[in-house]
Amino acid sequence: MSATLGDYVEWLGQGEIREIERLAGFLGPLRVQHINSTAEGGGVAEILHRLIPLKKEVGLHPQWTVIEGEQAFFDATKAFHNALHGRRTEISREAFHVFRETGKKNLNKVQRDADVVVIHDPQPLPLVEARDQTRARWVWRCHIDLSEADPRVWGFLRGFVERFDAAIFHLPEYTQHVGIDQYLLMPAIDPLSEKNRDLPSGEVQKVLERFSVDPERPILLQVSRFDYLKDPLGVLEAYRKVKRWADCQLVLAGGGASDDPEGERVYREVLSRVDDADVHVLQLPPDSHREINALQRAATIVIQKSIKEGFGLVVTEAMWKGKPVIGGNVGGIRRQVLHGVTGFLVNTVEGAAFRIRQLLSDPVLRQRMGEQARELVRSRFLLPHYLRNWLLVLLALRNPGRGVFRLGLPAD
Ligand code: UDP
Repeated sequence: MSATLGDYVEWLGQGEIREIERLAGFLGPLRVQHINSTAEGGGVAEILHRLIPLKKEVGLHPQWTVIEGEQAFFDATKAFHNALHGRRTEISREAFHVFRETGKKNLNKVQRDADVVVIHDPQPLPLVEARDQTRARWVWRCHIDLSEADPRVWGFLRGFVERFDAAIFHLPEYTQHVGIDQYLLMPAIDPLSEKNRDLPSGEVQKVLERFSVDPERPILLQVSRFDYLKDPLGVLEAYRKVKRWADCQLVLAGGGASDDPEGERVYREVLSRVDDADVHVLQLPPDSHREINALQRAATIVIQKSIKEGFGLVVTEAMWKGKPVIGGNVGGIRRQVLHGVTGFLVNTVEGAAFRIRQLLSDPVLRQRMGEQARELVRSRFLLPHYLRNWLLVLLALRNPGRGVFRLGLPAD
């Protein structure tokens, strides 16, 4: 059963909840169609699963639609994704063609009577071709870090983006020179979801047992899609360096997303480098929310050594469970892992190994950072915060032409 807004009072207070209801009241039964490219796996699907019911509860009429595409389309969009994240990537002319054509085939998915159409990430961007058949306002919700985007790919996509009314980015450094309004808002996690709600310790123990992880010895954990940008190989190397000095186990848990064709290759590469019984590489089905919840709760330290990271919901999830996080010094991780306060930011394998050793040897520091981490999430990154900022964007869309807005972002 879905949570109701009132269920969040214990963390946000009655005032915040009333404000959300009041803001929603100004909007009325607005028809908001969200369109993305996967129903499960990855952060976008994770958020939509929880945001849609809550938007419904406050009186909006949200809808979630997933576009369809062939393998060649997802190969193309994964290559775009890597290139937008600044990774050197070969992209054929054919990939651009497939991208456009798949867009055309999905045009009928646009709800003609929508008031607002929200396109998530680059995959469904060409659906904006259907714009003239609607009277909707069009919003591009970008979840990735565009600060070092490959100019060829961004130059191509930008032609679509400029036909929207507005774009939403996580962070100021991701904004672009596009002639449309841009909003900044950071995502959030749902404390009441299977992924994040409290679990009895017996259940945590059972999950460890199932995966043959020893509950008596320290556990280092990274949860991620198997993706080079999440640097699972770097985590493995850091673990090896630590292991020479300190007893610990490493769990690399992840699964695929239906719009990410690279996962299997990266998973196999990680597996091929493991020669230690204390390393557990777990390929989990997409509905493994309770298992991930349990692993995050059982972890001594959570690692997210990404090379690029739009936001990093897994970091938020771990912090909510009171864990110190050692994170790559990139993107949205930097807004969550406050260096020396909620965890440590690292730039190298050596840096990661150093901080792991430091935290393993200092339970008091771990405890303090974990508490601070949870409080940061409580105050900024819970789902109702995100809903509130969304409502503000929907209201602001009525009054366009204002440039860049920051919503719920603290000053730098
Ligand atoms: N996730 C999951 N199963 C996996 C790997 C990840 O459910 O095997 C979830 C994870 O808990 C988080 C989301 O997918 O909620 C990943 O979001 P994030 O922003 O960290 O990264 P993305 O995959 O969007 O790049």
